[in-house]
Amino acid sequence: MAPRARVILHHLANVWLKLRRELAQPQPLLRTLTRGENFVALLPTYHSPIYRDYAPPMSVPSTILSLAARQAELAALLESWCNVNSGSANADGLNRMRTVLRDEFVRSFPAATIAEPATDAPGFNPPGTHALSVRLRPTAPVQILLSGHYDTVYQRNDPFQICRWLDATTLNGPGAADMKGGLVTLLTALQAFEQTPHAANVGWEVLLTPDEETGSHGSAPLFRDAAQRHQLALIFEPARPNGDLVHSRKGTGNLTATCHGRAGHAAKVPGDGCNAVLALAEFLLGLGRLPQAMPGVLINVANFHGGGAATNVIPDFAEAQIDLRITKTSDGELLMAHIDALAAPINARDGYRLELQGGFNRPPKECLPQEETVFAAWQQAARAVGVAEFSWVHTGGGSDGNLLSNAGLPNLDGLGPIGDFLHSNREMCRTETIPQRAAIAALFLHNVASGAFALPAKG
Ligand SMILES: [Zn+2]
Repeated sequence: MAPRARVILHHLANVWLKLRRELAQPQPLLRTLTRGENFVALLPTYHSPIYRDYAPPMSVPSTILSLAARQAELAALLESWCNVNSGSANADGLNRMRTVLRDEFVRSFPAATIAEPATDAPGFNPPGTHALSVRLRPTAPVQILLSGHYDTVYQRNDPFQICRWLDATTLNGPGAADMKGGLVTLLTALQAFEQTPHAANVGWEVLLTPDEETGSHGSAPLFRDAAQRHQLALIFEPARPNGDLVHSRKGTGNLTATCHGRAGHAAKVPGDGCNAVLALAEFLLGLGRLPQAMPGVLINVANFHGGGAATNVIPDFAEAQIDLRITKTSDGELLMAHIDALAAPINARDGYRLELQGGFNRPPKECLPQEETVFAAWQQAARAVGVAEFSWVHTGGGSDGNLLSNAGLPNLDGLGPIGDFLHSNREMCRTETIPQRAAIAALFLHNVASGAFALPAKG
């Protein structure tokens, strides 16, 4: 078919789809008339709201269209990566995994510059861990960061070490979705993008880190630096089980509450001892009630230990660890003020000391206006490569997108393959979605490089 005829047909198909959707709305005709529009008049008017989702046919480079043929090879690569234990505390495994990744990226992009900055964070990361940075064309007019983490939550001695196939394309394995599947997707997308005709217009950096699952304490400065050098970040955390991306994330923090009381005989001198278990319990009950008055705040008292050696001893020590989550950045200070106010009356009592340590290590990832624009372009790329419609959603889990948003870098998150049951031995990845998601990313990059899509200003 002649290209012009194809464009007209595509256009008419879009009009028909929009018309059908419009007619499914309550009182479609009334809505249309009150806007002073009619469908015939709309036909050539691309700016009308009725064409909001209309995308002119996008040409997709053949290197991107042919990614589907690589599915089996990409699934095998993912399986081999998941079989390397790279739990956040396993320095040997992390270094092995980084070497595997570095070799793969060097092979794929021989002209790229490799750096392996240290990610030391005493008390959080094991000694000797490093991030992997792969950078190509640092002077190109557009700079895009692609990020991911290569640590998993499964430690060296975890019983969940090796993959198994649940069916022909579903891989159950440690890190299959979170996020070695995302790393395979990222690599594949760049391999395809590099073969597109305008790639020279976009410079990129891949930043892969070893400590996301424990709060990115060693990598946070690297993300803050990277945020300055780029206009946009693409984060290949897994897509939701229904294919949706991530719109926003809660901010995360940790708190350790340590209560010191005074030991004493349980009965001999009533009132002499100060029971640390009871005082801490009183504090924790108050803490548990705080979310009722603060929508979007989550508090989980994760563990509690301490107490005396015998039942006839008043305990002088108790400690709890608490997970804190907030949706709005402004809730952080308010929540900490409420927490301090709960501790104050206990500290005012003779014989008690309640110490609080910790705070927020990841601010919330709130959706930036530029991200709305980028998401629409991502959806258009998805339609052009035939991926089923998806939306984007808020999630309670944090990612390095939180750090990048806080540093002012717009980012799109959840771009990896579809997966489920993260952080459990049922974790799985639908490997047929790896080439699909890679195709979206590659086409998006191609659209930026060709000028078909202009990245919004950082703001
Ligand atoms: Zn993750």
